[in-house]
Amino acid sequence: MVDYQKRDKNDIFNIPVLGFLFKNQTFIMTLRVGVLALFIYAIVFGIMYPTKEENIFTTVVFWSLFWPFFVVVTLSTFGRVFCGICPHGFMGKYITKFGLKKKMPKVFANPIVGVLLLVIGFWLVYYIYPQAYKTPIAAAIFFIILTAISIVFFYIYKDMGYCKSICPIGTMMGGFGKVSFTTLGTYEETCKSCTTFECADACSYNLKPFTFDKRANMVDCTLCMDCSDACEAVSFKLVKPSHSLFKKFQIQKAEVWAFILITAAISITMSFHHALGRVAIADEYIWSKFGMFLQEKIAIIGLDYIGISALFFAMLITISLVYSGMYVASKVLNEDFKKVFYTLGYAFAPIFIIGGLSHTYEFFFVHHYSDIANGFMQGFFIDADKVQALASRKDGWLKIFTLLNYIAVIWAFIIMAKRINFFTASKVAKSVAFVFASSLIIFYLFLNAYKVYAFKTYGAKKSAHNHSPAAKKHTSNEVKHIR
Ligand code: SF4
Ligand code: SF4
Repeated sequence: MVDYQKRDKNDIFNIPVLGFLFKNQTFIMTLRVGVLALFIYAIVFGIMYPTKEENIFTTVVFWSLFWPFFVVVTLSTFGRVFCGICPHGFMGKYITKFGLKKKMPKVFANPIVGVLLLVIGFWLVYYIYPQAYKTPIAAAIFFIILTAISIVFFYIYKDMGYCKSICPIGTMMGGFGKVSFTTLGTYEETCKSCTTFECADACSYNLKPFTFDKRANMVDCTLCMDCSDACEAVSFKLVKPSHSLFKKFQIQKAEVWAFILITAAISITMSFHHALGRVAIADEYIWSKFGMFLQEKIAIIGLDYIGISALFFAMLITISLVYSGMYVASKVLNEDFKKVFYTLGYAFAPIFIIGGLSHTYEFFFVHHYSDIANGFMQGFFIDADKVQALASRKDGWLKIFTLLNYIAVIWAFIIMAKRINFFTASKVAKSVAFVFASSLIIFYLFLNAYKVYAFKTYGAKKSAHNHSPAAKKHTSNEVKHIR
């Protein structure tokens, strides 16, 4: 074990305040216990006060605090730090110690399982029936079921297998975390003389932090920092944003699929359904027409047919664009299709995680700040005046956040340009391949530009923000909580 390590300047453990936040085990443990207590309390509160009229606290904790801030904002900056304080991961470390420690069967051991659970189990259900997770009781039941599943998996299978493949946001976190500007590794010179490997022993995930730098990949690391407590040679450094995406590393197919499916299910479907759904000509779009057609044919009350249709078209367009673009790129580069698909697919990472920040920040000022403050006052029975929103949707300055959509596009292009250089081909071939492999990025750019054009040209719809009969029942506030 190394007791002292001279640290580099960019090592977060060496930086005042940040070093304390990420290395002080008492602080980290207090934070974990606090988050677990909040998680349990929000569930209990949701059961005690099951309706939206009597309880906003539960949904605020899960959909205004945990999802946009704990997950999206931290993921794009410091990386997968949410996992370090996640209630499931925290409990899992103790459960797995006295569990059966079996090997995860192949059918569950694929990280695509978690991605599909997120897309089908959450987003598909959300678009079909937007109220599904919006009431306090529904959110409470959803997290009770997820907690029960995680406990069973942590108890039966070894090495935190639940986090590696079943957790609906685990693979997503691993993939999108690569966009961040931090990396965990070790001081190579110090590790050379090590014979005890305490960092690896301390890792409940059975990972070897001393291999991360060489592999340019932190694999399934959840940034729990247990290894940094076991050995001083562990580092947590500030690096160039997305630095690992500019290097070659062992590809995780599920991560690329997470980028594609989540971009389709969240960024593109939301643009079709919620943003363009507010334009005066919303009924003319193909997803609206198809949704209305479905509604006529199936006519089950309460379902959001335009939401289902928007998701269907977003998936169809996204997957077709990526497949056809990558196919042409592989032909032009004269390389194997799968190799091109998964190598270049990592360039899609910034689209959702950076582009999505535009909504996150805008909704913080318009909704989340006041929702969180009022929700916590309600949850902890604080008798004070209602907190007002920091801005209204009409405030022009909020448009500044839309710049993040364009930053996401530029960022994705840069990664694509760097990763295309992993292939050997002429400059002309690489340039042509770049354009085709970037079809999804170009489409996302076009979509954002079109949204601005559509509102300027046709104006906003006069009635509800969403023309679906089912969706009209929901307040715009409810819809925006989840973005
Ligand atoms: S992978 Fe999932 S369950 Fe595991 S720590 Fe991260 S968020 Fe929590
Ligand atoms: S490598 Fe370190 S920080 Fe990563 S999961 Fe293992 S113990 Fe936690």
